[in-house]
Amino acid sequence: YLKNITRKAHLPAVTLDGRKIRVEANIELVEEVVSAKDHGAEGIGLYRTEFAYLNRERPPEEEELFLEYKELAELMAPAFVTIRSLDLGAEKLGAWMPPIEQENPALGLRGIRLCLQHREFFKTQLRAILRAGAVSRNIRLMFPLVSGMGELLQAKAVLEDAKKELRREGKAFDEAMALGVMIEVPSAVAVADDLAQEVDFFSIGTNDLIQYTLGIDRVNPHVAHLYDPLHPAVLRLIRHVVSTAHDAGIPVTICGEMAGEPLYIPLLLGLELDSLSMNPQAIPRVKNLVRRSTLEECRRFVQQTLTLTTAGHIRDTLQELVLRVF
Ligand code: PEP
Ligand code: MG
Repeated sequence: YLKNITRKAHLPAVTLDGRKIRVEANIELVEEVVSAKDHGAEGIGLYRTEFAYLNRERPPEEEELFLEYKELAELMAPAFVTIRSLDLGAEKLGAWMPPIEQENPALGLRGIRLCLQHREFFKTQLRAILRAGAVSRNIRLMFPLVSGMGELLQAKAVLEDAKKELRREGKAFDEAMALGVMIEVPSAVAVADDLAQEVDFFSIGTNDLIQYTLGIDRVNPHVAHLYDPLHPAVLRLIRHVVSTAHDAGIPVTICGEMAGEPLYIPLLLGLELDSLSMNPQAIPRVKNLVRRSTLEECRRFVQQTLTLTTAGHIRDTLQELVLRVF
């Protein structure tokens, strides 16, 4: 059975009634492209860029970043690579960074907030990404932890600045690089209609969205049992994000851990996600589940599920459905 799944890993994931779902990989090292491809990834849905900044005495220079992103893009081409700009802060801190004293790091200086406080530093990474995009034209960029339009517009201004500099210096870059925003703070969900006017795609980071929505620290073992992707609030937020994005004509991915969990696949299909991005090992199984699903049935299931009021009830019905269908 497993052999069979692996053999079919390179075929597309299409439901029995003909809906194709793009299945992508989350990685953080260029070397992982091999595994992503072997497991049938149709693109990189999330490239976490923090690694190059950690465990060293000073931050990387533009050229080093450029070479890293260029290699990544070339290895993956013609499939696309979604590079997330730096999400340092919380638990990820470079040794070169001045220590940040904060009682609640997850609610503190992190992600785009940190980058917007150090714009020259931020611009260096954006320049490297833009330049790498010129090589095989398959890089997309997204910003993490955006809480609203103010931050998005400021980040876009830094991006425009980077482009202007590169133009002036006569350096090649991808003028038309697609830009996305991660939806992982509840306030971003509330203003998703405005955000959608400013970007080409949304990527829902459920790891953080669940943490911030439920007020449950994603790394605190004392409350780990309460961290539930099936909480009705989480599902309603996802539904709202997808319908808002589709009204605006842009696609939505989920790149949190939730997307690689087989049990949730019927739910995510019924919620009309356009693509799912996950750790490479999860891809063959998820593709296989998509192939055995019927979109119509998943939609009906979501209608029914969204009337349920507890995560426990939703989990029970989901388990029933998965047992019946798969
Ligand atoms: C997320 O928050 O769901 C996500 C994909 O980003 P990270 O896990 O790196 O915070
Ligand atoms: Mg996140």
